[in-house]
Amino acid sequence: MQIRISIVRDLSSVTLSSDGPLRLSWQGGEHRCDGQHLVLSWKTPGRVTYRVCVEAYGNPALPEGFEPVTAGTRLGDLDMRETWLCRTYGTEAEAREARQRLLEQEIHAYVRRHLESSGTIEVAPGNQRPFEVPGPLRITPAAGVVTFHEIPYGAGFHWERREDEVYGGLFDVYADDRALLVVNETDLEHYLMVVNSSEMHPDAPLEVLKAQTVAARSTVLATRGKHHFGEPFDLCNTDHCQVYRGLQQVRESSRQAVEETRGEVLIYENTVADARYAKTCGGVLEAKEFVWGGRPLPYLVAKPDTDGTPAFEPPLNTEERARAFIDAHPEAFCNLKPNEIPYIGDPLYRWEIRYSSRELREIIRQKTGRDPGDLEAIVPLKRGASGRLYLLEVRGTAQTLRLFTELEIRRVLSPSHLPSSLFYVEREGEEWVFRGAGWGHGVGMCQVGMVKMAQKGYDYRAILAHYYPGTEVRRVSG
Ligand SMILES: [Zn+2]
Ligand SMILES: [Zn+2]
Repeated sequence: MQIRISIVRDLSSVTLSSDGPLRLSWQGGEHRCDGQHLVLSWKTPGRVTYRVCVEAYGNPALPEGFEPVTAGTRLGDLDMRETWLCRTYGTEAEAREARQRLLEQEIHAYVRRHLESSGTIEVAPGNQRPFEVPGPLRITPAAGVVTFHEIPYGAGFHWERREDEVYGGLFDVYADDRALLVVNETDLEHYLMVVNSSEMHPDAPLEVLKAQTVAARSTVLATRGKHHFGEPFDLCNTDHCQVYRGLQQVRESSRQAVEETRGEVLIYENTVADARYAKTCGGVLEAKEFVWGGRPLPYLVAKPDTDGTPAFEPPLNTEERARAFIDAHPEAFCNLKPNEIPYIGDPLYRWEIRYSSRELREIIRQKTGRDPGDLEAIVPLKRGASGRLYLLEVRGTAQTLRLFTELEIRRVLSPSHLPSSLFYVEREGEEWVFRGAGWGHGVGMCQVGMVKMAQKGYDYRAILAHYYPGTEVRRVSG
C-alpha cells in the first residue's frame, strides 16, 4: 500500500540532492536532472480554500453554511469513515475567525486547507539555467534516496531545529498559496520503519518498537483522508500526525519491528482503531473526547497506567482530586527513577514551572494577541476524566480570556508549550507556579510507560491491550 506524507511545508525554497539522476515531470513536460543538486522555489501561488470542520456527532445545530461531508476511507469490510460538518471560506483569516467563534462555544473545530490547484515552481538544477514549471512537479529518483537540506522541524516547540533529511520513494512538489509543499509517496511498511525510528529511540526494546509500529499502522489507516482532508497527502510529518523524519536514524531494530508485525493493526468492532499515543501520561491516560471532542471511543479511555492496584482511579476531574493526584507521585509504568532508562532522560512524570506575573502576562499577550492586564487569577473551569484541563480562564485587570482545548491551554501558558494540561496553578508572592504531570495529551499509549512494560516482560500484544482496551490485533495488509 502506498501512502503520501507532506515532508516540507511553509518554505519558499528547498534544496535537495541525490546520488543518482532524477527524472522531473509535470503536466506537458519532463526533464532529466543529472546534477547532484536541485533548488526548487515557490514562484506563483496556487489556489487554496479553507474549510472549518467539526465532527457531526454531538454537534447537530451549527451556524448556517455548514454542510455534511464524508471523511476517511474504507478498507475491505473495515469502515473508518466519519461524517463531518464543514463550511468553506475564501481566506485563512476568515476560517480561523470562524473556528475561534466555535471554540468560544466549546465546540472542537478544525481548519482544513484544501489545495484546489498548484501554482508554478522554479526549478534550478545544479549549474544549469533555472526554468519555471506548473505544479505539481513529480521527482522520481532513478535509484536510491533523496536528501532534503536544512529542513526545519518542531516549529513552536522547544526542540525546534534544522536538519538534513533523507527519504526514499518519489516526490510531488506543489506551490500552495504561500509556499512550497513537498509530498513523499512511499510504501506503508517503509514509512512505518521511519516513523518508529523517529518516534522511539532505536535502543528501545523490540516489543516496544513492535507495539509502536502496530499503533502507527493503525493510526495511518484510521486517519487517512481525515487529518488532511482536502490536501494532496494522507499525513504530515510532525506530531500532528506522526513524526516522520527520514531514513537517517533507521536501524536494524526498526526494520525488524516492521517485519515482525507486517500488516498488523488494531481492530475495534468493524474499524481500524485510531491508536493515539503520547510521550508520558503522568500516571493516568485521558479519554479522547476531552482532548479532541467528537464521539467517545471505548478503547481511548481514562485509566491508570499501572498493572498494580492504583492509588487513584479516574475521574480526577475535580480540583481536589487532580491536585491530590499530581502531588502524590503514585506508582505507574511511566513513574521512572531519575535516569532509570538513560535514553529517556527526564520523562516529565512530574514537573514544575514558575513565571513572574509580568513574564506570564507577556507570554499570554504574545500568544493570543490580547493583553489580559495585571494577572488576578488563573481559574481552572473544566477537567477531563484524567484531570487534564480543557477549559481555563485567565482573569486580568484589563480582560478575561477563556482558553478552550488542552492544546490551546498548553500553547498560551508557555513560550513554547506546557508539557501537559494536567496541572494546578498557585500564586506564590510575585510568581505563578504550575505543578503538573506528564508530557503530551495523554490519550492512548504512553511511550515511556510502554518501555517499562517491556522491561517487565510484557510483549507487544499485552502492551497494546493495556493501552487500547477492547481492541484486537489483526493482519489486514502487507
Ligand atoms: Zn498532520
Ligand atoms: Zn504513563
